[in-house]
Amino acid sequence: MLCSIARELISLYLDRELQPAQATDLRKHVYTCTACQHYQEAMEHAAMLLAEPPLAVPPADFDQSHEAHPRRKEYGWQARGGRSPEREQSCET
Ligand SMILES: [Zn+2]
Repeated sequence: MLCSIARELISLYLDRELQPAQATDLRKHVYTCTACQHYQEAMEHAAMLLAEPPLAVPPADFDQSHEAHPRRKEYGWQARGGRSPEREQSCET
């Protein structure tokens, strides 16, 4: 099998569109061809990266909203707890 054909089959294989007979021929070629082994590994790695959600890099909006919620809660707690009627009375008298 030619490397150019093998590489077309590798992309079909990763898309699960390869016939079983073609997959067998491809495996035979990849087993003996180092260049196509590397090509298949690179394609598999790229496919994995595309399939995984980008958990490591959240969007900027997500980060801001995530920080804003605890701050809002904290402010609300301080506003309610700091202005207790008892304290205002004790300060005035
Ligand atoms: Zn090859």
